Amino acid sequence: MCGVFGVYNSKTPAEDTFYGLYSLQHRGQEAAGIVVAEYDENKHKTIYRQHKGMGLVAEVFKDPAIFKKLPGHAAIGHNRYSTTGASKSTSNIQPFSLTYRSGNLAIAHNGNLTNSRTLRKELTERGIIFQASSDTEIIPHLAALSKEKEPVHQIYHALRQVKGAFSLVILANDQLIAARDPYGVRPLALGKTTDPDTGDAIFYVASETCAFDILSVDYVRDIEPGEILLIDKTSIRTHKPISLYLPPSKRKARCIFEYVYFARPDSLVFTHSVDKIRRNLGKNLARESMVEPSNDDKHQIVVSVPDSSNTAALGFVRESNKICRPARFEHGLIRNHYVGRTFIQPGKQSREIKVRSKYNIIRGVLQDRQIVVIDDSIVRGTTAKMLIKLIREANPKEIHLHISSAPITNPCFYGMDFPTKGQLLTYLFADTKDHDEEVEKIREYIGVDSLKYLSLQGMLNSAPRFENETQSYCTACFTGDYPISMDDATTDKEEYDNEE
Ligand code: 5GP
Ligand code: MG
Repeated sequence: MCGVFGVYNSKTPAEDTFYGLYSLQHRGQEAAGIVVAEYDENKHKTIYRQHKGMGLVAEVFKDPAIFKKLPGHAAIGHNRYSTTGASKSTSNIQPFSLTYRSGNLAIAHNGNLTNSRTLRKELTERGIIFQASSDTEIIPHLAALSKEKEPVHQIYHALRQVKGAFSLVILANDQLIAARDPYGVRPLALGKTTDPDTGDAIFYVASETCAFDILSVDYVRDIEPGEILLIDKTSIRTHKPISLYLPPSKRKARCIFEYVYFARPDSLVFTHSVDKIRRNLGKNLARESMVEPSNDDKHQIVVSVPDSSNTAALGFVRESNKICRPARFEHGLIRNHYVGRTFIQPGKQSREIKVRSKYNIIRGVLQDRQIVVIDDSIVRGTTAKMLIKLIREANPKEIHLHISSAPITNPCFYGMDFPTKGQLLTYLFADTKDHDEEVEKIREYIGVDSLKYLSLQGMLNSAPRFENETQSYCTACFTGDYPISMDDATTDKEEYDNEE
């Protein structure tokens, strides 16, 4: 997974992109980069400059002198997600930029292409040289090979050939292009402010709207699935970018996991409030829950696994009380904010240590209580198993683990960093005869008094409906039903493993 950001017609595009990426840090912590475009009036040419590096945005851009070297009117930026066990090659840091017959091009991508192997093979056979192993680099090469004259048409031509998930920000000479695949798998939003001196529009594009909030930019709308939006000099005068559209699909495949876990709750994603949908997930989980509060202590203590399940836990408590199952929200787990996401560490041992260094218990809150622990998802199962062990140290009366999503049974080929099937917890219990038996086995493995996953229908009921679509969401990681053809799909992880 990744975060992308773009800005057009700002006097400080590098700084804006820095703040945008800073708000999108949760979408990728492995590397960050910014490419800035500066139009040279005398030479009628656009010059690109860039700064990229491994690590968090604030680390990569910690020297203020960097921004002095990045003047211009437009910029794009990218946060790269850490893929477990991935090669930490710096050549994969985005945005990628290149020079070709029509000028300069730079690209940043959130998503994953599913026909990249075939395309890469074809291109390599035609003599194309690749600098990185990432699927993204295929797009500028296809654009460069296009017979079209205008960069936006070249991009259109390229995007008709690729399959999979893509939310893109592209610099093409002095222009900014934003594009989203016809299934709309990953989010991409358009924002705008007005330059107080000139009255001209300044446009912004970002994976999530929290990147607009930090810059006091207004959210305008989403880049639509299949839309290729061109922002250039004309758009800043007319305040209206123009669009081309890829062949539409009635079936959409917005990633439901963006709502479950990935996006920040203060963002709008797919035009809707993540906070609201995450509360709905908690609410529906409470409706599906079977745990009655024990008699001697009428209140259940509901504890969230901070921070990712805080919002779902609030929805859960509210709904529990509404349906006369008294519950009280408590902070029973404390998170150390200086530890990165648990996923990052390779190898099981260090992941376990990381869970312990990330969370601690408040004994007084948990002791002798009936506790419902809410988490948003179980992927490998490490977090849940370790956390429950930790909570047991406080001697609670009962521990009930409630998950605000369905069991994850399949890897993601569209950009989420889900491991191969064999690394998912559910794989251990793949030979069980039905869902109930599988959940029972997982319950035993994790060591809780009861385990409840939100049903797939409960998840879908929590998310907004979109009209005139046969289906709106991708739920492949829960169902194995992959909406976009997977000619030669690999997960990011497999791609890297082959390379190593
Ligand atoms: P597990 O230990 O089961 O592999 O991970 C589950 C925990 O990681 C949950 O608490 C959830 O909040 C978080 N999580 C779920 N999906 C992802 C993901 O794609 N990336 C990261 N870094 N964490 C995730
Ligand atoms: Mg979590």
